[in-house]
Amino acid sequence: MSRYRGSVCRQCRRENMKLFLKGDRCFSDKCSFDRRGYPPGQHGQRRMKHSDYGIQLREKQKVRRIYGVGEKQFRIIFKKADRLRGITGENLLSLLERRLDNVVFRLGFTSSRTQGRHFVKHNHFLVNGKKVNIPSFVIKTGDVIELKEKSRTVQAITDSLDTVVRRGVPQWLELEKDGFKGVVKGMPTREDITLPIQEQLIVELYSK
Ligand code: SF4
Repeated sequence: MSRYRGSVCRQCRRENMKLFLKGDRCFSDKCSFDRRGYPPGQHGQRRMKHSDYGIQLREKQKVRRIYGVGEKQFRIIFKKADRLRGITGENLLSLLERRLDNVVFRLGFTSSRTQGRHFVKHNHFLVNGKKVNIPSFVIKTGDVIELKEKSRTVQAITDSLDTVVRRGVPQWLELEKDGFKGVVKGMPTREDITLPIQEQLIVELYSK
């Protein structure tokens, strides 16, 4: 995946909402979006009128950025969602939500998905007792995600676990904080994804 090297906060301003990409900073008064909640660039403060295509495109970019997925990878996930039974948009969100980098974030082991991706890649987690270092690994019901023993003293992880109560763990996951592990109780439903996402716009975009 080609890596975005620009300002992360700029992405929130572009999508006109907080995407929570920087962990604790997003909840502090240092949040750029709270200070400058308009699109970046010379003409950012002008009122912009979007075409239908523009609105659909922005929705796709927004979701892609929230989950930190590249363009090509996102399209592959969409195709997979389209092949599954059920509503394509909801399948898409479910597949994104079940990515291992998102799951460790949602369980509270990391303060952002980006950090989740980093720690997964650096072999800090086991899935069902086996080493998994692929952030896009899709978990399923019954899986147990565990922090490796030697990683249990990593400051960033312990700090993040301390704030898990504030952020909350979704009902489809269960955190055993003392055991440094999480269990997947079921599949995420649409109601579990509380960010304002209109997934049908992405389906319309890719259906053209
Ligand atoms: Fe977005 Fe977080 Fe930056 Fe605020 S601090 S603009 S929510 S990434």
